[in-house]
Amino acid sequence: MSSIPVNIEWLSDCSGCHVAIVDLHEKILTVLQAVNIQRCPVLTDIKGYPKAKLGLVSGAIRSEHDRHAAEEMRKSCDLIVAWGTCAVYGGIAGAGNVHSCEEIFDTVYRNNKTTCSTQCPSSEVSPLEPSVSPLDSVIPVDLYLPGCPPHPAVVFDALLGLVEGRPPRAATKESVCARCKRQMEKSEVDRIRKNSEGVPDPEQCFLSQGYLCMGSVTLDRCLSPCPLNGIPCSGCAGATMQILTEPNRDIRTEIAERMSRLTLIPKEQIVREIERTSKTHYSYTMATPMIGEKPTFLIRKWTEEEREDYEQDHND
Ligand code: SF4
Ligand code: SF4
Ligand code: SF4
Repeated sequence: MSSIPVNIEWLSDCSGCHVAIVDLHEKILTVLQAVNIQRCPVLTDIKGYPKAKLGLVSGAIRSEHDRHAAEEMRKSCDLIVAWGTCAVYGGIAGAGNVHSCEEIFDTVYRNNKTTCSTQCPSSEVSPLEPSVSPLDSVIPVDLYLPGCPPHPAVVFDALLGLVEGRPPRAATKESVCARCKRQMEKSEVDRIRKNSEGVPDPEQCFLSQGYLCMGSVTLDRCLSPCPLNGIPCSGCAGATMQILTEPNRDIRTEIAERMSRLTLIPKEQIVREIERTSKTHYSYTMATPMIGEKPTFLIRKWTEEEREDYEQDHND
């Protein structure tokens, strides 16, 4: 079988998705036998976009450069894979969407005590777009592979599936809860705990113990390592299909309903706490219209209320 030409590109991201390829370890040899990696910013010095059968794109659209690179990938590749939560939903950079570019420049450059220059990047750097967008807002996408990064087993299966011309098998519709061994059981807990508070019971569901865990509203693209290792899920793989596709289902109300049934904490109190910490609990997916345009989603309002409360507390 002749090898399949592949182009790889990264847009605004942290490079973690590329490290996930290295995490394939010896399995990468199986993939490399079948593909011919052409453009790949971390591996090759090819500046252009040669014709390719397959294009992997990680990262979100944040700058004019990102938009141009995405369009060039679409023109040069027969199939485009949105690879990782940043490409699929906008990822953590999407948390910037509740601020203007000027506010971000103020915080990161002009008023930042840890930088030695208060100057913003020069005009030679590609300008920022007003907001962060997922890849499919700019080009059509053929396969979505969320995860931050996706687990190497899911990456391997998806790449092999594309090479063999079959749908990926490892990418199921299950939530993180499906692989978590913790027991959801009714408890007498009557208040929400911070993740840093106390030592959680290793057998019991975090929600039963008053910790906010996003496993039930998050797609399993990771094999659930966080709850299995004592840390509540923060939702980095993005929302489940139910949350994404059903207009009135929302991350905060779904978690609150489940947690209030498992504890003595009122549902309204849990909803309010998730709104108060919305930049944490919606950070990975807030840039996608699938979440951002839900009727229940008011993150700008929640963030402004939280900022007003903060300023009032610190001015008193
Ligand atoms: S999805 Fe996660 S690991 Fe991948 S580039 Fe974005 S932030 Fe990094
Ligand atoms: S909510 Fe979290 S702790 Fe509870 S079962 Fe789901 S993943 Fe596990
Ligand atoms: S368990 Fe949750 S936070 Fe941890 S890797 Fe999976 S999706 Fe991300």
